Amino acid sequence: MKRIIDGAAYASKIKSRVRSRVKRLTALGFRPGLATVSVGSDPASRLYLKLKQNACEEVGIYSEHFNLSSAAKQGDVLKLIGRLNSRPEVNGILVQLPLPKKFDVYEILAGISPEKDVDGFNPANIGRLAYSDESFAPATPKGIAYLLEKTTNLEGKNVVIVNHSIVVGKPLALMLLNRNATVEVCHVHTRNLGSHTCEADILVTAVGRPNLITASMVKKGAVVIDAGISKKAGKVVGDVDFGGVQHKVKAITPVPGGVGPLTIAMLLQNTVSAAEFQYL
Ligand code: NAP
Repeated sequence: MKRIIDGAAYASKIKSRVRSRVKRLTALGFRPGLATVSVGSDPASRLYLKLKQNACEEVGIYSEHFNLSSAAKQGDVLKLIGRLNSRPEVNGILVQLPLPKKFDVYEILAGISPEKDVDGFNPANIGRLAYSDESFAPATPKGIAYLLEKTTNLEGKNVVIVNHSIVVGKPLALMLLNRNATVEVCHVHTRNLGSHTCEADILVTAVGRPNLITASMVKKGAVVIDAGISKKAGKVVGDVDFGGVQHKVKAITPVPGGVGPLTIAMLLQNTVSAAEFQYL
């Protein structure tokens, strides 16, 4: 097995399977469609949306983007979501996060119809994870679980996740419990982070802080998944001191080229699954 996990190669295989499913649906007259919604003009959000739209195009999914001005109110976003919920050609709806602080994100995500919730953040879909129903699992945890399944056996392994957000840590913890791992979730209030991470057979980090995880914090032979994204000296980097850690571990994801491509591939997979569910 290769020590550096090639996320882009796995993503490309997933995208090729999605493309075939899209082709089949389109031939039946049901081209899958994704609507994306954003508020304001955050440059990082714009970049992520562009990547998602390009990926849709690549596999034949129709995508439509709705950008509301930063003056938009909670009711405007909810109204738009209501309209998208009732449009049959829109199979998936994604609200780009983070939203400006004035918004009640929970109410907005709960407003997306669960069967169109391709980001998997609707409370109904998060709840389904607790029952091992991963039909609409959030894309990043789904990508991480996929990479782990391709890399190692999860049963009985000690997994430490550094992140407890609804985007990564909480859904991932449920998904790994579903696979019989022993899961510990760390966050900003965790005392002596290294004493937890160095016990991990599998370490997943998603903080956005360069060099948060150094070699002394990682167990020899561990599998390390780095979902953190930040910039250091103009370069995109993860949370792990990659140079220091890579020789000590069984496998590790690079940044970029690790978890990121899987996140996009899983969004496409969720969108085509939503379309199949709604049409077939
Ligand atoms: P977030 O809500 O800000 O989560 C950050 C998490 O890190 C929180 O759980 C936070 O704990 C914890 N944390 C912060 N400082 C810490 C420290 N010093 N020690 C331990 N834990 C610490 O953001 P997010 O949306 O989950 O994203 C997190 C990172 O993942 C970002 O870099 C983001 O760009 C990246 N990300 C990547 C992908 C991808 O596809 N590769 C997808 C999604 C997110 P508290 O909540 O207690 O503050």
